Amino acid sequence: MEITRTHNIEDITTKIVGNEVIFGGWVEDFRKLGKMAFLTIRDVTGLAQVIVKDEMLNMIDGLNRQSVVRIIGLVQETKARDFKIEVKATKIEILSKAVYPLPIDPIGRLESDIDNRLNSRALDLRNTKTASIFKLRHYVLNSIRNSLIESKFIEINTPKIIGSASEGGANLFGLEYFGKQAYLAQSPQLYKEQMTLGLERVFEISSFYRAEKSHTGRHLSEFTSVDIEAAFMDYTDVMKVIEKLVVDVFTFTSTNCISEQEFIGNKIIIPKSPFEIITYSQALDELKKHDEEVEFGDDLLDSHLRIIGENHPGFYFLTDWPMALKPFYIHENEENPELSLSFDLQYGYLELSSGGRRLHDPEKIKSRLKEQNLDPKNFEDHLKVFDWGMPPHSGWGLGLDRLLAIITGVDNIREVVLYPRDPERLKP
Ligand code: ATP
Ligand code: MN
Repeated sequence: MEITRTHNIEDITTKIVGNEVIFGGWVEDFRKLGKMAFLTIRDVTGLAQVIVKDEMLNMIDGLNRQSVVRIIGLVQETKARDFKIEVKATKIEILSKAVYPLPIDPIGRLESDIDNRLNSRALDLRNTKTASIFKLRHYVLNSIRNSLIESKFIEINTPKIIGSASEGGANLFGLEYFGKQAYLAQSPQLYKEQMTLGLERVFEISSFYRAEKSHTGRHLSEFTSVDIEAAFMDYTDVMKVIEKLVVDVFTFTSTNCISEQEFIGNKIIIPKSPFEIITYSQALDELKKHDEEVEFGDDLLDSHLRIIGENHPGFYFLTDWPMALKPFYIHENEENPELSLSFDLQYGYLELSSGGRRLHDPEKIKSRLKEQNLDPKNFEDHLKVFDWGMPPHSGWGLGLDRLLAIITGVDNIREVVLYPRDPERLKP
């Protein structure tokens, strides 16, 4: 079977009228009008109209939508409104047949709900909106890497199969590992901190796993996290890193992903910086004005964050959380030890990132572990590193899927994850 092509569809332009082209793609639609038929063929670069005439019509008998074809034809001018040129077929080869009916209509004329789409995800990607979401995801990843590399961060890969719970036992998936108990990593926290000793500024982009029985549009059991950790940076410094990253990503995608924005139907607006900074205490005051009963030390509930999010649409930082709400590795504010050197980056009600200054004194870490009923013995491999010249450091973790949901304007992160995993969904 001959499968080569001479052109991508985007390269079949008015400049090559009269030329022969060979291209391939998926039959998006066809209309028969007497002794003529119009086929539209899509490849990853665009959509082309093909004119099929006379004896050529036999070749497309019984052809279903989404079948894969290879077209040989002549480029000619067209009267069609939606196309600048058309291709008059001289040969049509069917390379792969699609069934009829398909489980979902990938063109989206018939709406399918998200469950049906996820069950047929590969076919769902033939929808230009879905495909554009995943192209955008690619560009976002690309621009995150560029932004962090510009800020002198080095990309690392830490293990996902781990022998002990990195942040306490909660929410971990366990697995059997050659007769031993192992877990799937919920974050690269301990490893990325250790790496500041050798590489100073590190980042990782990877899947992490949380066994939380959440049924929300913002939690998955497997999600992609962007993590950084940096020596000689305070929490305010890494806040600048994440702010630059967000602005870089929005700037890059808004200017380079024009057709993706059109297909998705969402215009990317570059956020104004600097982002507003609201302390935890200020947030409590705002909530009290709304007659919410909250006291210092309470965690902010979803309902609280909805109120604060309405007051502050867009990106803002929530800083200086009580130590009592923070994991063992977070550094206290030396002037007010009830407070931590920490922040969340919010987009309205939605938490996008958590970060902060980390403890680098092993004795302090040990006493914090005990305070939180964690056994320092389980952290020996981690703690010993702190005796080898651990620099002061700060970092954050950012949920990539949540960032994508914001950029594409969808409210469920399942839209931006190829095969989302949640308590109900393990297949396909
Ligand atoms: P939340 O309170 O929203 O459950 P978290 O505070 O437990 O999040 P962190 O441990 O701070 O989450 O993780 C850092 C970031 O990773 C979060 O701000 C979020 O963007 C993302 N994240 C965490 N858990 C999930 C999840 N289950 N699914 C998708 N993204 C997640
Ligand atoms: Mn958090």
